[in-house]
Amino acid sequence: ARKMLMNSEKLSSVGQLAASVVHEIRNPLTSIKGFLQLLENDVKDKNEFFNIMKDEVEKIESITSELLYIAKPSELQFKPECIPTLIKEVCLLMKTQARLYDINIDLKSDVKEYVTNCDRSQIKQVFINLIKNAIEAMEREGTIQVHIYQADTLTIDVIDEGEGVPDELKDRLGEPFLTTKEKGTGLGIMVTKQILDNHHASLTVMDNEKQGSIFRVRFY
Ligand code: ADP
Ligand code: MG
Repeated sequence: ARKMLMNSEKLSSVGQLAASVVHEIRNPLTSIKGFLQLLENDVKDKNEFFNIMKDEVEKIESITSELLYIAKPSELQFKPECIPTLIKEVCLLMKTQARLYDINIDLKSDVKEYVTNCDRSQIKQVFINLIKNAIEAMEREGTIQVHIYQADTLTIDVIDEGEGVPDELKDRLGEPFLTTKEKGTGLGIMVTKQILDNHHASLTVMDNEKQGSIFRVRFY
């Protein structure tokens, strides 16, 4: 079952996003404030309080840094770039991270050169987000395949051997703050889709035949 993940109307409302951002940031802030108040009277539990507060601060930090990638279209720097080369750079970058979990990143590029106007750091961010999710879905050991090929248009598959996207989530991918991870932000796919929208590219997810998922990016 293929699901197109583009142009979701749910995302079109900036106000809705702003409201949920406020909500997601206010929760950890309220918690930090509460623990600061507790600290005034209770010093013996100080280490535990500090650990919780540190987690909450980290949560706010990841939310704000992921949202930074939603650049204003006017701030994007479109230049001719070779997409397979950018992806190769990302694979090299992510290899060190993947190795920590004994995960291999296997890049197969049938297309060596494909130059198109794009914002290089945003395009790299797309593949960082997808490979990061693939690593997180696998937890340990295995191979992530990144396959670049021509199928009418330039197509890139990021194939993992993870647990797969839960069925009930498939239609909702890209909704802000949708996460199944304890330390997830649920912003990665939303940002990825936003970037691809700005580049006339699409994102599709499907099940991997053996195990795991395939996230497919197509440039039009
Ligand atoms: P986050 O990674 O912070 O949870 P994302 O927007 O990147 O947020 O992903 C949203 C959710 O989609 C994840 O929490 C996970 O449940 C699911 N998901 C994304 N990529 C994959 C994948 N490769 N395999 C399985 N599930 C995935
Ligand atoms: Mg993610």
